[in-house]
Amino acid sequence: MDGVLTVSGLRKEFGGMAAVDGVSFAVRPGEIVGLLGPNGAGKTTTISMILGVLEPTAGTISGAPRERCNFAAAYAPLPGNLTVEENLRVFGLIYGASPLGAKVEELMARFDLLRFRDTKAGLLSSGEQSRLGLAKAMLNDPALLLLDEPTASLDPAAAREVRALIKEFAARGTAGVLWTSHNMHEVEEVCGRVLFMAHGKVLLEGDPRTLPAAHGKRDLEELFVTVAREPLSL
Ligand code: ATP
Repeated sequence: MDGVLTVSGLRKEFGGMAAVDGVSFAVRPGEIVGLLGPNGAGKTTTISMILGVLEPTAGTISGAPRERCNFAAAYAPLPGNLTVEENLRVFGLIYGASPLGAKVEELMARFDLLRFRDTKAGLLSSGEQSRLGLAKAMLNDPALLLLDEPTASLDPAAAREVRALIKEFAARGTAGVLWTSHNMHEVEEVCGRVLFMAHGKVLLEGDPRTLPAAHGKRDLEELFVTVAREPLSL
């Protein structure tokens, strides 16, 4: 099946330093791909280029058209002075979602937001804001969903809920998900494939359930620590 995202030779320099240094990978419909790596590895810079927020220094990005991509991250909260319903209606209008009213109602129901319909987004808890961010990210029926640490700062129950919602979305088979996380247990549970980044490069790629053993490591966390500390050892 065609990829919803194909990244080839992607590079981004900031003042002569390569934050992303020749990255290539693909995401196919139905897949949840984990983009892993230590702080500063280049994950957010990669996502920003895919979103079109940053211009690559070199390389190509192809796949789903931009209007079929969406994004959610805790560091990009929705306008806090608009209510849940207003936020979804405003973004729905921007995306040209149709029929708008029915779509907003369906998403509020799916993400358990109906009782917060008239609550200002800035007053929601972290978990509720995450659900709102995901509902907003579904408004344009994305073929590619980019999630930058979607469960960061969520309690275990809220994080589990978010994981279930994303898995259910991917299981429909029409969209691919690129997911960054620092929680290796979560990654093992959610991702069918992972890409390990360090110093702007993808050093390893594979199934998170078999990759550790293939490199003589006990689990994904141990493999992560090795990649982060001694990338040249691999
Ligand atoms: P984290 O896990 O901490 O979110 P990350 O893998 O997402 O890390 P990036 O945010 O992509 O890492 O940063 C990669 C490198 O690029 C870092 O060294 C960072 O300091 C640098 N960098 C990112 N944005 C800029 C910028 N606008 N100008 C200069 N340097 C930048």
